[in-house]
Amino acid sequence: MTEQGLDQLRKELVDINFAILNLLNRRGRVVTEVMKVKQRGDIPVFVPEREQRMLEEILANNPGPFPDKTISHLFKEIFRASVALMESQQEQGLRISRTNRKEDLRIRIGKRELGGDPVVIAGPCAVESESQMEMVAADLARLGIGFLRGGTFKPRSSPYAFQGMGEPGLEILRRVARKHDLVSVTEVMDTRTVDLVAGYADVLQIGARNMYNYALLREVGRCDKPVLLKRGLSATIDEFLWAAEYIVSEGNGNVILCERGIRTFERQTRNTLDISAVPLLRMKTYLPVIVDVSHAAGRKDILAPLARAALAAGANGIMVEVHPFPAVARSDSQQQLDIEEFREFLEQTGLSAPSAADGATRTP
Ligand code: PEP
Ligand code: MN
Repeated sequence: MTEQGLDQLRKELVDINFAILNLLNRRGRVVTEVMKVKQRGDIPVFVPEREQRMLEEILANNPGPFPDKTISHLFKEIFRASVALMESQQEQGLRISRTNRKEDLRIRIGKRELGGDPVVIAGPCAVESESQMEMVAADLARLGIGFLRGGTFKPRSSPYAFQGMGEPGLEILRRVARKHDLVSVTEVMDTRTVDLVAGYADVLQIGARNMYNYALLREVGRCDKPVLLKRGLSATIDEFLWAAEYIVSEGNGNVILCERGIRTFERQTRNTLDISAVPLLRMKTYLPVIVDVSHAAGRKDILAPLARAALAAGANGIMVEVHPFPAVARSDSQQQLDIEEFREFLEQTGLSAPSAADGATRTP
């Protein structure tokens, strides 16, 4: 073969490459159209039997010289890429997707805001008494913290453990929060008590154990209070996003995502804080993302570095449990900070507010 002939063949290869490229993208465009139809009809993205049939048909018509094994491998890659394209389309189709809104959502609650500079949500695991809440709230206000948490309906592993004060606890939380000009955050566990809790609290929390409770997600999606949604104990980031979508799809757009650690084999901490969730959630959605360091760690000696890591990763806030007397707390006593420890925590994380007057915390 002459050199000219070789050049000609090489040119032909280049042409074929471009033809394949165009065909692949044509396939991608058709896949995108298929996905639109699937989304309208709630049809599954991936149908393995159909893929198998297509592959058999291709191999039955393979003239060679590539052996069936190679053709099968190449087409499986093409199928995989097509499914990935459909999945990313599906994700972008979510209302909470960053593709629908470039700027971060900032949720205004009274004088405070969630979704901008980092804030601190602090308070005891559970509301236990008026005096306990009064002590915490007064100290939070003094330290310039704007958000007071406290559970009144507690999801406990044992049905015999303290289940929370219920409505009397909600009354205490509301009274104390109002007195000290704090935003109250408390968990709602049951569709039957959503109206009750929403009547008292400023922000409704959906706990990790209820992230998959779709009836509850829909119910809080119909109320007018912001919802702080915790990531499920073993929920993937996609499942977490779908849970948020449930709430937003019912009309309530004010959702705050809360990473609180996931269950792994590690036992030194109660859960494993998934730091990568923070930038991923911030990238995929416009919703505020906060990190609960207390329930992630289950201990208090590493809360400050965890909070610093969360803030460095882009968190819009930190949740931390604070109790005037952690040793006698009726739940999670080992992980709650006392006021002095909390003050140190604020210093170590750079989250201490410049003054109590504006109630906001500064960017570290
Ligand atoms: C809580 O914040 O009170 C709580 C129970 O946390 P989680 O749902 O993350 O376990
Ligand atoms: Mn707790």
